[in-house]
Amino acid sequence: MTDAEWESLCDGCALCCLNKIEDEDSGEIFYTNSACELLDQASCRCSDYVNRAAKVPDCVQLTAANVESCAWLPDSCAYRKLALGKDLCDWHPLISGRAQAVHEAGISMLGQMVPDEDHDDFHIFQFLESS
Ligand code: SF4
Ligand code: SF4
Repeated sequence: MTDAEWESLCDGCALCCLNKIEDEDSGEIFYTNSACELLDQASCRCSDYVNRAAKVPDCVQLTAANVESCAWLPDSCAYRKLALGKDLCDWHPLISGRAQAVHEAGISMLGQMVPDEDHDDFHIFQFLESS
Protein backbone atom coordinates (compact mmCIF):
# COMPACT_ATOMS: atom_id res chain seq x y z
CA MET A 1 0.00 0.00 0.00
CA THR A 2 1.37 3.42 -0.93
CA ASP A 3 1.40 6.33 1.53
CA ALA A 4 -1.44 7.95 -0.42
CA GLU A 5 -3.53 4.77 -0.26
CA TRP A 6 -2.83 4.46 3.46
CA GLU A 7 -3.88 8.06 4.08
CA SER A 8 -7.04 7.61 2.00
CA LEU A 9 -8.29 5.07 4.54
CA CYS A 10 -8.97 7.86 7.02
CA ASP A 11 -12.67 8.73 6.78
CA GLY A 12 -12.29 12.09 8.56
CA CYS A 13 -14.49 11.21 11.53
CA ALA A 14 -12.19 13.09 13.97
CA LEU A 15 -12.85 10.59 16.73
CA CYS A 16 -9.15 9.90 17.20
CA CYS A 17 -8.53 13.65 17.54
CA LEU A 18 -10.72 13.96 20.64
CA ASN A 19 -9.12 14.17 24.05
CA LYS A 20 -9.70 10.93 25.90
CA ILE A 21 -9.76 9.68 29.45
CA GLU A 22 -8.60 6.23 30.53
CA ASP A 23 -9.98 4.50 33.62
CA GLU A 24 -6.84 3.57 35.54
CA ASP A 25 -8.42 0.42 36.97
CA SER A 26 -10.32 -1.02 34.03
CA GLY A 27 -8.29 0.44 31.18
CA GLU A 28 -11.58 1.52 29.57
CA ILE A 29 -11.25 4.47 27.20
CA PHE A 30 -13.80 7.28 27.32
CA TYR A 31 -14.03 9.85 24.60
CA THR A 32 -14.76 13.48 25.42
CA ASN A 33 -16.20 16.17 23.17
CA SER A 34 -13.03 18.21 23.70
CA ALA A 35 -11.01 18.32 20.49
CA CYS A 36 -7.27 18.54 19.96
CA GLU A 37 -6.14 22.13 19.62
CA LEU A 38 -4.97 21.48 16.06
CA LEU A 39 -8.24 20.05 14.81
CA ASP A 40 -10.24 22.18 12.37
CA GLN A 41 -13.68 21.55 13.81
CA ALA A 42 -15.44 22.81 10.68
CA SER A 43 -13.93 20.10 8.51
CA CYS A 44 -13.00 17.44 11.11
CA ARG A 45 -9.48 17.49 9.67
CA CYS A 46 -6.10 18.32 11.19
CA SER A 47 -5.25 21.94 10.43
CA ASP A 48 -1.52 21.21 10.10
CA TYR A 49 -1.20 17.50 9.36
CA VAL A 50 2.35 17.70 8.02
CA ASN A 51 3.70 19.39 11.15
CA ARG A 52 1.40 17.73 13.70
CA ALA A 53 4.14 15.72 15.42
CA ALA A 54 6.09 18.88 16.23
CA LYS A 55 3.03 20.82 17.37
CA VAL A 56 1.21 18.04 19.24
CA PRO A 57 3.79 15.55 20.56
CA ASP A 58 1.03 13.24 21.86
CA CYS A 59 -0.41 12.78 18.38
CA VAL A 60 0.08 9.15 17.36
CA GLN A 61 1.01 8.48 13.75
CA LEU A 62 -0.86 5.36 12.74
CA THR A 63 1.12 2.75 10.83
CA ALA A 64 0.42 -0.80 9.76
CA ALA A 65 2.78 -1.86 12.55
CA ASN A 66 1.16 0.00 15.44
CA VAL A 67 -2.53 0.12 14.54
CA GLU A 68 -3.36 -3.14 16.31
CA SER A 69 -1.99 -1.78 19.58
CA CYS A 70 -4.09 1.41 19.34
CA ALA A 71 -7.05 0.11 21.34
CA TRP A 72 -8.45 3.63 21.64
CA LEU A 73 -9.36 3.76 17.95
CA PRO A 74 -13.13 3.58 17.42
CA ASP A 75 -14.61 0.42 15.97
CA SER A 76 -15.70 2.46 12.95
CA CYS A 77 -12.10 3.42 12.06
CA ALA A 78 -10.97 1.92 8.76
CA TYR A 79 -7.46 1.26 10.07
CA ARG A 80 -8.88 -0.73 12.96
CA LYS A 81 -11.34 -2.54 10.72
CA LEU A 82 -8.64 -3.64 8.29
CA ALA A 83 -6.38 -4.74 11.15
CA LEU A 84 -9.24 -6.93 12.38
CA GLY A 85 -9.94 -8.30 8.90
CA LYS A 86 -13.28 -6.47 8.61
CA ASP A 87 -14.76 -4.69 5.58
CA LEU A 88 -15.20 -0.95 5.31
CA CYS A 89 -18.70 0.41 5.95
CA ASP A 90 -21.00 1.62 3.19
CA TRP A 91 -20.55 5.23 4.28
CA HIS A 92 -16.75 5.12 4.03
CA PRO A 93 -15.56 7.60 1.35
CA LEU A 94 -13.72 4.85 -0.52
CA ILE A 95 -16.97 2.85 -0.78
CA SER A 96 -19.56 5.61 -1.08
CA GLY A 97 -17.36 7.88 -3.22
CA ARG A 98 -18.43 10.84 -1.08
CA ALA A 99 -16.37 12.47 1.68
CA GLN A 100 -19.56 13.86 3.23
CA ALA A 101 -21.06 10.41 3.74
CA VAL A 102 -19.24 9.92 7.05
CA HIS A 103 -20.92 13.05 8.40
CA GLU A 104 -24.35 12.24 6.98
CA ALA A 105 -24.20 8.79 8.55
CA GLY A 106 -23.64 10.38 11.96
CA ILE A 107 -20.29 8.69 12.43
CA SER A 108 -18.15 11.81 12.66
CA MET A 109 -17.91 14.41 15.40
CA LEU A 110 -18.87 17.26 13.07
CA GLY A 111 -20.81 19.88 15.02
CA GLN A 112 -20.44 18.03 18.32
CA MET A 113 -17.06 19.26 19.57
CA VAL A 114 -15.94 22.06 21.84
CA PRO A 115 -12.55 23.78 21.91
CA ASP A 116 -9.97 22.48 24.34
CA GLU A 117 -10.45 25.45 26.66
CA ASP A 118 -14.28 25.29 26.78
CA HIS A 119 -15.05 23.78 30.20
CA ASP A 120 -18.76 24.71 30.29
CA ASP A 121 -19.86 22.41 27.47
CA PHE A 122 -17.30 19.69 28.10
CA HIS A 123 -18.68 16.21 28.58
CA ILE A 124 -17.58 12.60 28.52
CA PHE A 125 -19.14 9.83 26.51
CA GLN A 126 -18.19 6.32 25.55
CA PHE A 127 -18.14 5.74 21.84
CA LEU A 128 -19.98 2.58 20.90
CA GLU A 129 -19.68 0.67 17.66
CA SER A 130 -22.07 2.15 15.15
CA SER A 131 -21.65 -0.20 12.25
S1 SF4 B 1 -10.60 7.40 13.90
FE1 SF4 B 1 -9.61 6.52 12.09
S2 SF4 B 1 -10.91 7.12 10.38
FE2 SF4 B 1 -11.47 8.46 12.10
S3 SF4 B 1 -10.19 10.29 11.85
FE3 SF4 B 1 -9.07 8.88 13.16
S4 SF4 B 1 -7.72 7.70 11.78
FE4 SF4 B 1 -9.31 8.69 10.54
S1 SF4 C 1 -2.42 16.87 15.83
FE1 SF4 C 1 -3.89 16.74 14.16
S2 SF4 C 1 -4.03 14.54 13.68
FE2 SF4 C 1 -3.07 14.74 15.72
S3 SF4 C 1 -4.77 14.60 17.20
FE3 SF4 C 1 -4.43 16.77 16.77
S4 SF4 C 1 -5.85 17.26 15.11
FE4 SF4 C 1 -5.67 15.04 15.18
